[in-house]
Amino acid sequence: MDPFATSSSGLEPDRFGFLHVDLNSFFASVEQQLHPEYRGKPLAVVPSFADTTVAIAASYEAKALGIKTGTRVGDMKKICPEIIMVHGSHTTYAEYSHKIAAAVELACPVAHTPSIDEMVCQLIGREQEPPRARQIALDIKQSIRDNVGETLRCSIGMGPNRYLAKIASDMQKPDGLIGLLPSQLPRSLLQLELRDLPGVGARTEAMLIGKGITTMPQLLALDREGMHRLWNSVWGDRLYHWLHGHSTGDDGAPLPNEMQKSLGHSHVMGPAHRTPEGAWAVAHKLLHKAAMRLRMEKLCAGSMSLTIRYQLNREQVDRATMPEAADTRPDTRPATRPGDFAKKSATGKPRKIRQHTSGIKHDGWGMEARFPTCQDTLTLLETLGKLWTQQPTGPDYGKPFFVGIAMGRLIHENEQQPTLFADPDNRNELSRTLDKLNLKYGHTTLHFAGMLPARDSAPTRIAFTQIPVQYGVDYM
Ligand SMILES: [Mg+2]
Repeated sequence: MDPFATSSSGLEPDRFGFLHVDLNSFFASVEQQLHPEYRGKPLAVVPSFADTTVAIAASYEAKALGIKTGTRVGDMKKICPEIIMVHGSHTTYAEYSHKIAAAVELACPVAHTPSIDEMVCQLIGREQEPPRARQIALDIKQSIRDNVGETLRCSIGMGPNRYLAKIASDMQKPDGLIGLLPSQLPRSLLQLELRDLPGVGARTEAMLIGKGITTMPQLLALDREGMHRLWNSVWGDRLYHWLHGHSTGDDGAPLPNEMQKSLGHSHVMGPAHRTPEGAWAVAHKLLHKAAMRLRMEKLCAGSMSLTIRYQLNREQVDRATMPEAADTRPDTRPATRPGDFAKKSATGKPRKIRQHTSGIKHDGWGMEARFPTCQDTLTLLETLGKLWTQQPTGPDYGKPFFVGIAMGRLIHENEQQPTLFADPDNRNELSRTLDKLNLKYGHTTLHFAGMLPARDSAPTRIAFTQIPVQYGVDYM
């Protein structure tokens, strides 16, 4: 089976499962919508005008002066004597909440309304592709402006699960649009404070500090068991899955069958890189990335599949599709060697010319190698090198344009049988050191030399030099 035939074969594909819509300064914005004379001015919604009561909402203009929900009326008057104070009407805000939900529905069905100023949409199918998800988010913003009012603005967060979508909606205000892609986790969360996590209030924060966790990098460094121990409950496991971008069910719980069957990366190369050397460099880079993901997910692989697709010109296609071509074409593929390798595509069968979604006519080749489970880059690279030499040769195989690598037979690293022999090169230790430095300083800090030619052709979704999603910045 082609390990790249379906998106589910990848680790966590870069998709957004949920949009979290959070209205900005909701009550104050409703007042400014109802009263155009309030627009552009500091305004606070208060339950009463007594100096001892506190604001329940503040407009952007008031927030700019340091006035926020919870500021006492007496203090507000000192900060800004001309502040507009409005006695809030919950009925009016509830009406607006319904109007906004109806406006959101015009762009995407609303799955949940966690509060009066929040709506959650669940994305399905191709809506989950980041460019489409982003367009839906922009449509939601426009629909609210058009159908409810121009002062009603919202921040929208996109994430693989509800939890991350909510976090993302908090990262940019007002009028934000932030996406947290699985491939950029957990790095894109490193700059948060513990208290930025939904569900982590003062008491939980105190508990975490008591157990020595004071920063997000410390929390994110924990594995699932570590998180479980920290919370002493299944909430630790859940939070682990959420923060690491795993697809989760509608209630935020991880989907069953969380153990992935394979972990893969693939890349379609640009025309300039469609050479054996270019393909090798890309394969090398994909392997490096997959090996790092293995270790981050605390997995070991027991097999590796390599898939290469070769571009064919018109003449090659015509020759291959002539009825007699399959029989007369000399088989240039090497004989199967005894040992570890099993050919995935049977030799001697008529060739099937396929058409890639890009329109490229091609022939494909793939092979799987099995080996004792491991997770270190050097051992996996050696295996890749051996697989590489098995690919067919000849004029039809000179223009590789697609390379895919998938790790299979995955087990949790705790299940790995101890090897009979000690790790002579300390390969696991070396791999972990590489990961640490690369996570800290960026992926190009340390790499194996074979990757170098691929840096120029680096696809953006394999971000070697920078993180496309950055804290507080629109992801596109
Ligand atoms: Mg809000």
